[in-house]
Amino acid sequence: MLVRNYKFRLYPNSDQEKKLQNNLNACRWVYNRFVEMAERGFVTRNDMNYFLTELKQQEPWLYNYHSKMLQMISTQIDGAQKALMRLHENGHKAGKIRFARYDEYRTFTYNQSGYKLEQSGGKDVLHLSKIGFVEIRKHREPIGEIKQIIVTRSKSGKWHACITCENTICHIPKINFSKVVGIDVGITNFTYDSDGHQTPNPLNLKKMLKPLARVQRKVARRQIGSQNRKKAVRWYQIIHERIKNRRKDFQHQLSTIYAKNNNVVFVEKLEKGNMVKNHKLARNIMDSGWSAFCDMLNYKCMLVEVSAKNTTIDCSRCGNVVPKSLAVRIHSCDKYGLVLDRDYNASRNILQKGLRIFGISLPQELRKVTPVEIENQSMKQEEATGLVQ
Ligand SMILES: [Zn+2]
Repeated sequence: MLVRNYKFRLYPNSDQEKKLQNNLNACRWVYNRFVEMAERGFVTRNDMNYFLTELKQQEPWLYNYHSKMLQMISTQIDGAQKALMRLHENGHKAGKIRFARYDEYRTFTYNQSGYKLEQSGGKDVLHLSKIGFVEIRKHREPIGEIKQIIVTRSKSGKWHACITCENTICHIPKINFSKVVGIDVGITNFTYDSDGHQTPNPLNLKKMLKPLARVQRKVARRQIGSQNRKKAVRWYQIIHERIKNRRKDFQHQLSTIYAKNNNVVFVEKLEKGNMVKNHKLARNIMDSGWSAFCDMLNYKCMLVEVSAKNTTIDCSRCGNVVPKSLAVRIHSCDKYGLVLDRDYNASRNILQKGLRIFGISLPQELRKVTPVEIENQSMKQEEATGLVQ
């Protein structure tokens, strides 16, 4: 079974937008009733849905909303409850489920029924029961049977539909190792791969820090509750969304390139603990960027994680151990005179480690000397001869 999610932008007219927002309000209201219930002790999904039918009798306006949508809220609470219990069992401090505020509650779910993708007047429309036909911009055709639609409102007020499709035709791809690559991750270079390509980190957040600070000052200066402050808060959210979009766009483009050119991609397992130790300030940038990038690679091609142990200190040609501190950017092994970028060396190690997992020996190309090395090597030789003289 192949499950795919597609996210499309919705373009509701003002009437539909009101209806969508009303949907959110109704869901939030029910959600908060369930939270009240959960405060008194653990509740099952059945308890909640039984309570929902009672609620509907007291509050007939709830009948104006898609009933399956309201039922799906119990799933949300159920998940949250279980997550909290797990935290508690593992000895973490676990609070309780909080009431949702207006701007925190931004999704509702149509599960199994109440939706249809159609065409009307040359436009793609999404029919949602109790809402109507909402214009949808499909940038690709969803494949398979639609199982669920999650409608979300972003912080800046855009509407999207996340469509979950199930495909029964499942083809298990045969693993092909003809095109493989190892990737090392970093701060200055987002990726450095074993083919010698490097991609600089776009550092989207860093670039936007100034405008962010400017808007933040505006928010701080304006009076609480005023219309102008609300406007500034919206600007702030728009900038944040833009950062998010740019980062995502970058990750998608890069992961697509890797997936198109390779069958298998090897990366090192990222240890959260190590990252804090090593990179401190840059952690946030890494954190959000890297795991998302790997997730994309994982569904676009085959991604294999290898242990990060010794990938930076081992020599990728002879296996000699060359200890170096973080500040040393060049790997230089005396045994066969291999001199190359530290991250390049690491990515070659990652590739070799990965191939070893599958019992495949080192490809011939890796043993060859790349032009980068030759350049460095001759430089080194010149240095050496200089010393002799
Ligand atoms: Zn070596």
